[in-house]
Amino acid sequence: MSRYLNDKYMGLEEYVPGEQPKDMKYVKLNTNESPFPPSEGVVEAINADNAMLLKLYPDPDCAELREKIANLFGYKKENVFVSNGSDDILNFSFMAFCSEGSHAVVFPDISYGFYKVYAELYGVDYTQIPLKEDFSIDPEDYIGIGKNIVIANPNAPTGLALSRDTVERIVNSNPDNVVVIDEAYVDFGAESCVGLVNKYDNLLVVRTFSKSYSLAGARLGFAIGSAGLIADLNKIKYSTNPYNINRLSMIAGCRAIDENRYYMNNCKLIARTRARVTEELREMGFEVLDSCSNFIFARSPEISGEELYLELKSRGVLVRHFGAERIKEFNRITIGTDDEMNVFLRTTRDILGK
Ligand code: PMP
Repeated sequence: MSRYLNDKYMGLEEYVPGEQPKDMKYVKLNTNESPFPPSEGVVEAINADNAMLLKLYPDPDCAELREKIANLFGYKKENVFVSNGSDDILNFSFMAFCSEGSHAVVFPDISYGFYKVYAELYGVDYTQIPLKEDFSIDPEDYIGIGKNIVIANPNAPTGLALSRDTVERIVNSNPDNVVVIDEAYVDFGAESCVGLVNKYDNLLVVRTFSKSYSLAGARLGFAIGSAGLIADLNKIKYSTNPYNINRLSMIAGCRAIDENRYYMNNCKLIARTRARVTEELREMGFEVLDSCSNFIFARSPEISGEELYLELKSRGVLVRHFGAERIKEFNRITIGTDDEMNVFLRTTRDILGK
């Protein structure tokens, strides 16, 4: 830290991304990327002709990509916002809708760690609402709370999901506040709330190309909401960085939407592998939460969460361990290919002597 840093950021605890180690080749199950490559059309489009166009700024309106996303979900372009990863959209949402005092925000105590970082960054009044003992969200905690709400659905790192009807009750009971539903993992088995956007002008559904669309490296996220909320996000975007999606990512996103079926089929394959790995871990004595995501959250009564993480890492398998008190006995394990998961299961058996 230099002596020039703005005082208000001195105490800011930044988000810590999952490790991307370079020391050896790992079976990498720690950052919830897709094990499948981008579709053919995406790979083809990242070609020399399109690279030549990098000399020009991209379309700040992102018209083609927004139209394609709108068509896929049955909305209009005015209902779609796209940005540099869904982190960017969450960031803009905190900037646009939350503040100290009258625009407070709530989110679960165990959830995506970035929500707290944004709240701190903008000096927003925030409350972390504890999950229930079984790590599920108690919807009653959010009904009529009269504050902005951010919920990851499915939640991370638990993988547990609320039904669409439950989310609707929360949205309906807080008409004077914005409810952000972060659906980063929804394609792997939860009910999407995109269909509710027509009915509620206070609902913003945030999605990403990073997980189900195999494009984590492209940095592309989108949100669907009422035209008013989307205009608010655009106001922030045009006040910070109007060209925040590069040309190649924009093209990749367009082709990915064209080839939507490929990706949705991959999600089914991942869900199938998830079911098998869940069963095998339970047979080994693990407690595994019922995940609707492309990861599972599991703890063993025989080994601490941190020890299992370290033992797996020393044997070339990388999973994600969080130190927070309530969840420190768990590890979050991304679902990879069947072969990768076989290595994970075999290594885990070795460590536990099974
Ligand atoms: N929301 C959740 C719940 C996540 O786990 C992640 C990925 N770390 C994101 C949003 C951000 O994803 P991206 O910026 O890659 O779209």
